[in-house]
Amino acid sequence: MIPAPFTYLRVSSVQEALDALAEFGDDAKLLAGGHSLIPLMKFRLATPKVLVDISGITELSGVSLEGDSIVVGATTRHATLEHSPVVKEHCGLLAYTASLVGDPQVRNRGTIGGSVAHGDSASDLPVSLLAMDAQFTVQSRTGTRTIAAAEFFLGFWQTALTPTEVLINIKVPRQKQGWSYQKFTIRSQDWATVSTAVYGKSVALGAMADIPMRATAVESALAQGAEISEAALLADHNTSPSSDTRASADYRRHLARILTEDGLRESLTRH
Ligand code: FAD
Repeated sequence: MIPAPFTYLRVSSVQEALDALAEFGDDAKLLAGGHSLIPLMKFRLATPKVLVDISGITELSGVSLEGDSIVVGATTRHATLEHSPVVKEHCGLLAYTASLVGDPQVRNRGTIGGSVAHGDSASDLPVSLLAMDAQFTVQSRTGTRTIAAAEFFLGFWQTALTPTEVLINIKVPRQKQGWSYQKFTIRSQDWATVSTAVYGKSVALGAMADIPMRATAVESALAQGAEISEAALLADHNTSPSSDTRASADYRRHLARILTEDGLRESLTRH
């Protein structure tokens, strides 16, 4: 449970972070809240030689309104999203989802950028961001690009970020649709056994495959006028849930259908 030796580098601007990534390449890892990376390092599943701490970069943190969007800086902490009056008013789904991440200690350290860059399908925020078609702004020394949530998550702990890129911010729509986030856990504060986010007629699932995924069969059925109860039965179509100590694959499929039905119904009452 002791990490391999590493050098710690604290940077104060995005440029300094990009320079460090360019200099150390695959040997470097960005450190935000450390609540996913440090445990991995303790288990020696990650052994970066250089940790580049971006948590002090002020330009990466905070929430602002831009037209029809809310722009959330990558190092904005879960607790900030949970309590921000702006997020609560304009994007209830994001504030509520953040409030269900781990426990208060986790929410006070963990960041939205770290959560999505970690790329775990059982994480909460990626599921809601996928349902909202969030846009991710990333920067390297050669420029800036925007990645749609649907193209960001590539596989187990794998995202579209390259080793020399920093996630800068995440753009979500100001809420105009009904929403819901349903999370089933075995213990009161835990990773999702299965989760479902609903935003209007968009439905996303967590922990039903290696990556968070859209429940496209449900979305198509709704678009064709199916009743909620009928559409929700399709929630596990094209999913590949695992069987593990939390649940069997069959039980996860069952949960996906139940949570999707509950989420779709609740979304009619939450705006
Ligand atoms: P870090 O651990 O610092 O980094 C994670 C990864 O992202 C690293 O690879 C890092 O290099 C990369 N990274 C970070 N920031 C950037 C950036 N701006 N650009 C590019 N790459 C970046 N999460 C849930 O969703 N639900 C839970 O119920 C939950 N429970 C938890 C319980 C415990 C006890 C713990 C320790 C964690 C839990 N988490 C849970 C995880 C938590 O949400 C983490 O905070 C989050 O997954 C990672 O955010 P971080 O800021 O800590 O990232």
